[in-house]
Amino acid sequence: MQAFIGLGSNLDQPAQRLISALHALQRLPGIDLLSHSRLYRSAPIGPQDQPDYVNAVARLQVNGTPHQLLHTLQALELAAGRQRLRHWGERTLDLDILLLDSQHIDAPDLHVPHPQMTCRAFVLQPLLEIAPGALLPDGTALSSFLEEVAEQAVTPMSELDRDALIE
Ligand code: AMP
Repeated sequence: MQAFIGLGSNLDQPAQRLISALHALQRLPGIDLLSHSRLYRSAPIGPQDQPDYVNAVARLQVNGTPHQLLHTLQALELAAGRQRLRHWGERTLDLDILLLDSQHIDAPDLHVPHPQMTCRAFVLQPLLEIAPGALLPDGTALSSFLEEVAEQAVTPMSELDRDALIE
């Protein structure tokens, strides 16, 4: 199946965390990293007294079930020493399943499409960068939600920043 994954971090060198997570995904058996967006900087949603986030979206080809993918991502979060101090608060690495082909999943521990993806510019902008025609399972274009989130500050990090980080 093809998956879109959202990556986010705002603790302990967040950009480096995301790059490491992309490398880790690439190395996992059964996962093929097809493409990824640039890194974006976004203002926190929820508590405002926390650092800005760095976000990105990756497109994966995955062998296995949706729950296997969820558990793989949770293991990567743990391996990154994920700390979660409060709801919607700072975290070292957050990996969300955004879309899985055109599947609709409503399990107690897994909701796909990710319920908040259409109201978050830090998801929509990087996702549309790598998949401008992406659709929800019901056929709605994800680009149609961009206008509603236009006031959320999300900025692609400069090429200079990116080059500096990849070293
Ligand atoms: P958070 O890390 O705060 O985004 O939430 C983690 C919890 O969300 C975990 O317990 C997951 O089981 C649950 N969850 C539900 N849907 C998803 C999804 N699409 N991607 C990742 N986690 C999900």
